[in-house]
Amino acid sequence: MKSNKRYSLDIVIPCFNEAGGLANTITLVMSCVQSLLSDPEIRLKTFRLILVDDGSRDQTWALIAAASARDQRICGIRLSRNFGHQSALIAGLENVDADACISMDADLQHDVGAIRAMLLAFQDGADLALGVRENRQTDTLFKRGTAYAFYASLRLLGVGIVANHADYRLMSRRALDGLLAHKEVNLFLRGLIPSLGFNVILVPYTCKSRAAGGTKYTLRKMIGLALNGATSFSMRPLRLIGLLGLLVCAISAVSILYVLVIRFAYPERAIAGWASTVLPIFALGGVQILSIGVLGEYIGKIYMEVKRRPRYLIQDSTERGGADKKDDQRNHPDIRS
Ligand code: UDP
Ligand code: MG
Repeated sequence: MKSNKRYSLDIVIPCFNEAGGLANTITLVMSCVQSLLSDPEIRLKTFRLILVDDGSRDQTWALIAAASARDQRICGIRLSRNFGHQSALIAGLENVDADACISMDADLQHDVGAIRAMLLAFQDGADLALGVRENRQTDTLFKRGTAYAFYASLRLLGVGIVANHADYRLMSRRALDGLLAHKEVNLFLRGLIPSLGFNVILVPYTCKSRAAGGTKYTLRKMIGLALNGATSFSMRPLRLIGLLGLLVCAISAVSILYVLVIRFAYPERAIAGWASTVLPIFALGGVQILSIGVLGEYIGKIYMEVKRRPRYLIQDSTERGGADKKDDQRNHPDIRS
């Protein structure tokens, strides 16, 4: 349901050693939003830029502090060390107090031109406007290959993930509150966000090449992110062990039958000592793998429990009389006046 109320927006940008291009990014984002403030179709009321310095070792923090001193709409958060992109992002998101927030990268690969489309989607009732890159031409073959393998293997593991969506997205207040109700330490936002539900819209954008400096995602960080994605959402790897155990048990049962038939029906073909050597290996192997699989099931359950994820998120509710309170500001916090 649409609302005509005007809303506030916070933009969160995590920055790690981005001194080379940050000044340019700040200028571009600020001028983009400035033009949106006077856009008749956009009902933006106030705006804040939250820059999170993820333990940079260059002049990033000095730049953020200077920008913040110049313009009170810019605020900086400095983490005590490098915690990684996902943690820096959540640090910024936890400090959002607007009706909607947008997260984006500092290197201008996320085209600021898509902000308008995201805000229009939000005005039309979207809680999540996910930026989806239309092209990967700007990436190296290596980056393209690893990205493809990453998305494909996550889907194989059953992790609901939107292809070509990195961390460029708009979230309404209620979607953000839903996200922040997840208290897990190992964050994989790209998997978590599609699992929230709510009204989702995909916003295509053209990915530019990095404005300054090189990628801050080293191979180690990329592998860490992929492993985190694979293990944060899926018990499938653990379950596969159980299935393997079952398979080996089944093979050993068939072999036992085979050996017994040979032993008693065709004793002349039986090789002495073969059955007593091979069968225990199969049988014990099967039992062991199956036992590990059973342990895995329990460990998986414990893992999911300790995350303390919310059991449900509410999108709307009606008053006892049946009236739809959707536009009631108390219950529809994403558009406050
Ligand atoms: N980043 C961060 N901490 C890190 C690594 C990256 O805050 O440990 C930030 C970085 O400054 C950028 C964003 O995360 O704003 C995405 O990083 P990058 O553009 O290097 O990743 P790529 O586009 O190469 O995947
Ligand atoms: Mg980038």
